[in-house]
Amino acid sequence: MKVLKFGGTSVGSVENMTNVKNIINDGNKKIVVLSAMSGTTNSLVDIANNIKVSNTDKALQDINALHEKYILVIDALLSDATLNGLTKTYVAERFNFLIECTYKSFSQLIENEILAQGELMSTFMFNSFLQQEGINSCLLSALDFMKIDAHKEPSFNYIQNNLQTVLSEADTAEIYITQGFICLDDTGEVSNLQRGGSDYTATIIGAAIKAEEVQIWTDIDGMHNNDPRFVEGTKPISDLSFDEAAELAYFGAKILHPQTILPVRKDGIPVRLKNTMDPIAKGTSITGNHVETGIKAIAAKDNITAIKIKSGRMLQAHGFLKKVFEIFETYETSIDMITTSEVAVSLTIDDDRNLEQIVSELEKFSNIEIDTNQSIICLVGHAIVDHEGTHKLFKILKDVNIRMISYGGSRNNISLLVDTENKIKTLQKLNGYLFELVTL
Ligand code: ASP
Repeated sequence: MKVLKFGGTSVGSVENMTNVKNIINDGNKKIVVLSAMSGTTNSLVDIANNIKVSNTDKALQDINALHEKYILVIDALLSDATLNGLTKTYVAERFNFLIECTYKSFSQLIENEILAQGELMSTFMFNSFLQQEGINSCLLSALDFMKIDAHKEPSFNYIQNNLQTVLSEADTAEIYITQGFICLDDTGEVSNLQRGGSDYTATIIGAAIKAEEVQIWTDIDGMHNNDPRFVEGTKPISDLSFDEAAELAYFGAKILHPQTILPVRKDGIPVRLKNTMDPIAKGTSITGNHVETGIKAIAAKDNITAIKIKSGRMLQAHGFLKKVFEIFETYETSIDMITTSEVAVSLTIDDDRNLEQIVSELEKFSNIEIDTNQSIICLVGHAIVDHEGTHKLFKILKDVNIRMISYGGSRNNISLLVDTENKIKTLQKLNGYLFELVTL
């Protein structure tokens, strides 16, 4: 069985939902994971924030505006009076729940419950649409099987067993529809897999049922070799290995949630990135194989803080790095890039919530310099040094001030750290050097 995930734009209009229906209605049994309609989760985040700061009037105004938008979509999507009525009733219940939240005292749980409403509504609406079109579909609640543990990792055995049960209870259905993103936490309360987490839902389900393939459908024709928001003429990459895709997703390729590849990698379940607006385009195929050597793609990750730790005590001493790492471990802050010299270590973090405490611990035995507003530019490929343009990489130093360079952590990645204000220029220059093979 295959697992197909469709993002917010795919369920964002009647036209797109019709495209999705045509894609999935091929006579094969499958699980379809859906995001919330595009823009909904952002609106729900705003609603939650307004409730949090007791801006009740604004929250209520936004809830009503969103409700009206849903009524319009339902009317355009469902001409069948019974299904139209049923769906409007369900959606009204969800909006009533949001209204009730404005009177409750705010908590993390309330916020999670608010954010869950988008996927609950999109799946209900889409399932009604499939019923109207005479398709044998069945709506599964992700809250009946999707669960994370106290470390926010998927509870794999629980998911596998519970999913098996819900699937067998509905085994006559041809198409199972379920929500991405939402789950229960270790205490059984509503939680989620973080923003963009529907991709992750799809691969967790894929691993749980040992799927033949997981397909992630978006509105772009696969993973591109550079960021199309900043660079012109980017091209889709046809094949990536799990390692390459994981690096790109982590280091900024917005098309995939960073953890998407993890669940399927062990069993070698292929992941295909496809375009709902152009279903016959090949997209990107992510497998355990390395196809082609050299640099395949460039991605950038913002909001990076660089920390330079300088100490005379590092000279020919052992145990220095251990001491440094232990501080980051204590404050549960993960390190992305690291470079060392005999007298200094530079490293980067993307979560600066505990920066102050980390710095005061480090200052007990070293001098610290902090640079904020940095971006990691990540070059990804296989046997990356073999790329015909790789030697030109250092030409970038002539044009941009590179704060750190890291290579060798794997054969798949070279990372450069630059000031964020230089990011776009760096991405464009690298594109020219590496993919257009600009002669200098
Ligand atoms: N709806 C959630 C979000 O916008 C999850 C997702 O779409 O993947 O982040």
